[in-house]
Amino acid sequence: MDHDNLSTLYRQAILEAGEDPHNFGDLLRPTVSTELHNPTCGDVIILQLKISDHIIKDIKFKGQGCIISQASASIMTDLIKGKSLDQAKKLRIAFSQMITDNHFIDNDKLKDALIFKGVRKFPQRIKCATLVWNALEKSIQHVEEANG
Ligand code: ZN
Repeated sequence: MDHDNLSTLYRQAILEAGEDPHNFGDLLRPTVSTELHNPTCGDVIILQLKISDHIIKDIKFKGQGCIISQASASIMTDLIKGKSLDQAKKLRIAFSQMITDNHFIDNDKLKDALIFKGVRKFPQRIKCATLVWNALEKSIQHVEEANG
C-alpha cells in the first residue's frame, strides 16, 4: 500500500516538474530574497518575492534538488502569487498541517499543493516538500520585521 502511495506521489510530482517549472528564475529588484538548504537531501531553494501594499505581486524561485522540492516550489509559487501576506501565512500553516497531521481535513485553498498529502507517510521527504514554504515564512518574517 505504501508502495502504491509512493508511486502516486512521484508520478504526480514528476508530471508537474517535468514541464518547465513555473516561476523559475530571477526577479528584477526583489523586495526580499531567501536561500534555504535541506542538507538531508541536498536541496537548495532561493526564493524571491516582490511585495507592495502587503500583497505578493510576484514570486520566483531558483535552486536545485530532488523532484519533490522543485515541484513543491513550482506549485507553491503559483498558489501564492497575488495573495496577501496574511493569506500566504495561513496557506503555509495549512500546508504544514497537511504534511504532518494524519487527521488533516482537505483544505481546498491548497489546490494543487494537495498532491503532497502523501508525503507525510515518508518522513525523510517532508523536508523536501516544506523547504520552499519555510523560505516563504522566513521571507515574510523578514519583511514584517523591516516594516516594524
Ligand atoms: Zn529533496
